[in-house]
Amino acid sequence: MRVLLIGSGGREHALAVSLAADPAVDHLIAAPGNPGIAQVAALHPVTATDPAAVAALAVEVAADLVVVGPEAPLVAGVADAVRAKGIACFGPTAAAAQLEGSKEFAKSVMEAASVPTARYRACSTSAEAEAALREFEPPYVVKNDGLAAGKGVVVTSDLDAALAHARDCGRVVIEEFLPGPEVSLFVVTDGTAAVPLMPAQDFKRVGDDDAGPNTGGMGAYAPLPWAPADLVERVMRETVEPTLAEMRSRGTAFAGLLYVGLALTPAGPKVIEFNARFGDPETQVVLALLETPLAGLLHAAATGTLADHPPLTWRAGAAVTVVVAGHNYPDTPRTGDVITGAEAEGVLHAGTRRREDGAVVSTGGRVLSVVGTGKSLSKARDRAYKRIADIHLTGSHHRSDIASKAIDGKITLP
Ligand code: AMP
Repeated sequence: MRVLLIGSGGREHALAVSLAADPAVDHLIAAPGNPGIAQVAALHPVTATDPAAVAALAVEVAADLVVVGPEAPLVAGVADAVRAKGIACFGPTAAAAQLEGSKEFAKSVMEAASVPTARYRACSTSAEAEAALREFEPPYVVKNDGLAAGKGVVVTSDLDAALAHARDCGRVVIEEFLPGPEVSLFVVTDGTAAVPLMPAQDFKRVGDDDAGPNTGGMGAYAPLPWAPADLVERVMRETVEPTLAEMRSRGTAFAGLLYVGLALTPAGPKVIEFNARFGDPETQVVLALLETPLAGLLHAAATGTLADHPPLTWRAGAAVTVVVAGHNYPDTPRTGDVITGAEAEGVLHAGTRRREDGAVVSTGGRVLSVVGTGKSLSKARDRAYKRIADIHLTGSHHRSDIASKAIDGKITLP
């Protein structure tokens, strides 16, 4: 199988490692990729958000399967353009990707499908936002309606800050705060059949103990020793199956990766958000544990044959990833810093490029995603942090508490 992978971040490096390890894959091409992905795939330049350009590249490289990593190409219609060329594509249509592309659309689908989620109001003006905020108790949750690279959400008890975010965004969804530990569940689906992967937890805030602003994600781990035994079965029944049925009934079946972000509230798991692609950095830990060959699984979802796919198998043990971020992230990060020690086992590249002199330099806020695996969560965590100690990037920062609460038994269910 010839596979074309679209994207250039840490999630795509993890996908590339798993796709390259699938014995069914004889050629892996990544576009545009990064220096880490170049270790396992041939790179091609492409504008990932240009549907015609990606479709033309898929034809040029004679791809049997195109895997789209990030959300922006999906919302732009890349999967539609690839499929129009008769090539299998893992990723939803632009219409179905609205589950991620518009918070308001996602809320309307959840409402129609009776999916447990936060009560909400969609607002376009400051007056509407103010009225909605007065309806809900603090902490306030204000979400940019459109794509915002994981940073469009403000959770604050400061009414003025909540109003200011609503004003800055224009169209927003304001919703009830959901208490409880968060879980990310990835579901591979062909629109009808749906296969859950292993639940993971990510860390959105920039600092230890969840201090500071939200980011695209600073780390993740799996499995979750504290999660209820029936969690996956319950979320599939209460959330995933009804959502997929609602999307089918609208004539916009969702095929690809449905990412369900959940809060485990006292009233049960409720949806915080849907995404239309693998989450970053949870992918880095989930795929580190998935034993089933990845390309075969994604190909089955892309070709409507997921019901015939054998059950998934998993490696024993645990995985932890810690994101190394550039100076000043999540504010405008400094780029161009030289990185040493990044071409090593377990080090996934998220925001890097190779300079003409051969040096690897930073290009973004989240620069590396360092993965450790082991028999237990604590062994996996120790390995990830040991690997980080061998990396040098001037001005970088990372959280030092990824997976710690889970390891110390300090996560309690409400
Ligand atoms: P989102 O982009 O929707 O995932 O939101 C980013 C982060 O904001 C989530 O991971 C949560 O930590 C937080 N968040 C979003 N919505 C809510 C909510 N209704 N209640 C509590 N926290 C939320």
